[in-house]
Amino acid sequence: QPTLGVLALQGAFREHRHRLQTLGAPVKEVRLPADLRGLSGLIIPGGESTTMARLMTDYVLWQPVRDFYARGGALWGTCAGAILLARDVQGAPPQFGVQDSLNLMDIRVRRNAFGRQVDSFTTPLAVAGLQQPFPAVFIRAPVIERVGEGVEILAEHDGQVVLARQGRLLASSFHPELTLDPRLHELFLGLVNETVLESVR
Ligand code: GLN
Repeated sequence: QPTLGVLALQGAFREHRHRLQTLGAPVKEVRLPADLRGLSGLIIPGGESTTMARLMTDYVLWQPVRDFYARGGALWGTCAGAILLARDVQGAPPQFGVQDSLNLMDIRVRRNAFGRQVDSFTTPLAVAGLQQPFPAVFIRAPVIERVGEGVEILAEHDGQVVLARQGRLLASSFHPELTLDPRLHELFLGLVNETVLESVR
């Protein structure tokens, strides 16, 4: 069974870890490049993407995570994590300068597009492949404004893309770890099993 990692620098990483453990998946917290060894998939949690990006720099994680993907690992970014996966990030507060990202997924995201913290909300979301709507928790969420050719749209809210997949990359605007519904974590485990080669495991 493949081992999953959760980037544990900042944000809602414990919730992701608990959810994966509940599903019986072996899981490790990732703080250092060496923690990536032996993983098949990595979740980048929600939180605050500027802070997380700074910690990625401090812990020298940018290139090791890109290399992990290049070796065949799968990545799922939720909310701030989706921002870190994107090739194009818009809407960063100007005082922070250009936003660093992993530059992996062919999407353009706009930060804080669903409004201020007080505008956080939960909504039943129709997700491709799921029979029943998923209770999606949005907290100052980014929207996916543009998707490249190889990107499959899995869910939209109010006509805006909030869940998308590109091969071994998954990005969600919302926080599936903050509900008790395990179906998106199951979806990611399925994606890992389907796409990640035995040799990377
Ligand atoms: N607003 C945060 C950011 O832009 C993301 C919010 C979240 O992860 N819940 O980084």
